[in-house]
Amino acid sequence: MEIEKIHCLIIGSGPAGYTAAIYAARANMKPVLYQGIQPGGQLTITTEVENYPGYPDGIQGPEMMVHFEKQAARMGADIRFGLATKVDFSAPPFKVWIDEEKLVEADSIIIATGASAKWLGLESEQRLNGFGVSACAVCDGFFFRGKEVAIVGAGDTAAEEALYLSKLCTTVHMFIRRGEMRASKVMQERVQRTPNIKVYWNTNTDEILGESKVEAVRVKNTKTGELQTIPISGFFVAIGHQPNSDIFKGWLDMDEAGYLKTVPGTSKTNIEGVFASGDVQDKIYRQAVTAAGSGCMAALDAERYLSAKGLV
Ligand code: NDP
Repeated sequence: MEIEKIHCLIIGSGPAGYTAAIYAARANMKPVLYQGIQPGGQLTITTEVENYPGYPDGIQGPEMMVHFEKQAARMGADIRFGLATKVDFSAPPFKVWIDEEKLVEADSIIIATGASAKWLGLESEQRLNGFGVSACAVCDGFFFRGKEVAIVGAGDTAAEEALYLSKLCTTVHMFIRRGEMRASKVMQERVQRTPNIKVYWNTNTDEILGESKVEAVRVKNTKTGELQTIPISGFFVAIGHQPNSDIFKGWLDMDEAGYLKTVPGTSKTNIEGVFASGDVQDKIYRQAVTAAGSGCMAALDAERYLSAKGLV
């Protein structure tokens, strides 16, 4: 098996990974970045991004990620297609297997593998994704201002996103699969106090309706079996995210949901020389701009680590 020795390996290609690559390349760390299964990350499945500073007219998510990649490449980052499939962080240099056919030995690692939104698994949800179906109210809610929307989920994210949407939309129909919400009490109360959020208990989504864009949703009451069709323009899924951290199990500290733990205010994990940034370590903010910021932190932390060891 081919073995390659490098100073800095970045795993992941969303805003966190590319920003880390820009900073690491400019610090002469000669970073190698492996893009993973979805080059560009979650932004490549969104449409218009209007809240990333520096784009006064907004930009399409996929196009923005091409800009990130080009900027990292221009700084000298070595960007490659490939998936990290296994790691051994027992001692530096850290070992990472790529596509099970190549071994990279790196003095430092920046993890930016992101998270994936969970979906209901309906065919219509996939087909209309980006055409009224979204997993991010903060990203896409603005496009539905003055319209009726629906949201599914009952955790803190769903509650927060329902409240966010209630400020933009005429009515927010909120579908909750059980007879109670998982969200914190204070969030539940806020939801229930908001007059234009209509909560449907014991309700599952049966189908999202519309040919080329979302036009309505059909829901089913699980107690009575009653079906109901509600006209809407946007359908938001807020049933949780899955951090992409499986390959780090057993090496890095993570919470019960799999989010990597970092020392607050830094990107440091429990292993010196291994840093984490972006959504894989952030279950609260999950924005492109916060991910980019934390990618910058990881590169600066890695640079300090490498220079203290006299490696760069
Ligand atoms: P959670 O896992 O807490 O909640 C997911 C919700 O989605 C649950 O209510 C669950 O229902 C529901 N759900 C799951 N699958 C389905 C399905 N197939 N159909 C319908 N409903 C479904 O995820 P969150 O993203 O809300 O939160 C993740 C973590 O982040 C939590 O610890 C949360 O407290 C935290 N957080 C904190 C915030 C803050 O402090 N400001 C903001 C956002 C998140 P059920 O309850 O029936 O299982």
